[in-house]
Amino acid sequence: MMLYKNIEAAMQIPWYYMAAIDQYEHSLRNSRRDLEKAKGAVGIHIEPERWSGMLNPNKNDHNPLTISFFDGLGMDGNGDHKADVNNDEDILFTIANHILFFGTDEDNFRIALWNYYKRDKAVGIIMGNASIFKKFGRIDLQENAFPVPVRTHYSYRSTWGFARGWGGRRSHEGTDIFADYGLPVRSTCYGIIEMKGWNKYGGWRIGIRDINNTYHYFAHLSGFAKDLRIGQVIEPGTVIGGVGSSGYGPPGTSGKFPPHLHYGMYRDNGFIEWSFDPTPHLRVWERKDLAKRRS
Ligand SMILES: [Zn+2]
Repeated sequence: MMLYKNIEAAMQIPWYYMAAIDQYEHSLRNSRRDLEKAKGAVGIHIEPERWSGMLNPNKNDHNPLTISFFDGLGMDGNGDHKADVNNDEDILFTIANHILFFGTDEDNFRIALWNYYKRDKAVGIIMGNASIFKKFGRIDLQENAFPVPVRTHYSYRSTWGFARGWGGRRSHEGTDIFADYGLPVRSTCYGIIEMKGWNKYGGWRIGIRDINNTYHYFAHLSGFAKDLRIGQVIEPGTVIGGVGSSGYGPPGTSGKFPPHLHYGMYRDNGFIEWSFDPTPHLRVWERKDLAKRRS
């Protein structure tokens, strides 16, 4: 946080923009095996060719002058006359300069991100991170909640990867929580609503992306909470809709199977997104919510 605030003070780039980029890059490191753990606090990974310059014969160049000569990105942020790709301040200063080249308002920040990542999804995820950080004014937003209120009537077991009961070609990408129709469905995380609407199989469904770049998917809802909109920032426990049995037909189709919440989790590594079994997470969140209710 201090590193981001220093950049803000020196270069007038809002701290949550720098935090949002860094958070996205940390999430990529966590889901990619070809990247090692960050050496410092900053997670931003810059390829040696990009740092030193494509035509620079020295891929590990630390000299800001030769790096600049070869059109590399690397800059010296801490004043030691070295541009070190493993130094937190040098990395942030380098990225901050890339942003300043375009401008620090939202539109230009978007353009700077697109220019750097060349991936629409990366731009969307980072803008989402920025909204979340800005709203809560802090970066430790790792709390979770169980998707339905504990101490109510519900049941679930691990059904991830099973063949689908009601058509569909892919295997079951989630855990089904069977519950009474209309039981409140709550956000499991701090995040941003990325998707909301009807899907032929999922029925009324909502997708929330958290700051770890995990996508939380809620399907077969009875309906949505009032005033909920795409782009809205929410926190763990925020009611987003109700348990239902919508789906498997045109918009509004309901009752083709018993009411349940289909809950899925997906990770993204900067190239592709894949589903993983949410059940172990559900068990942890359920236990924590139960303990909270007791205390
Ligand atoms: Zn399901």
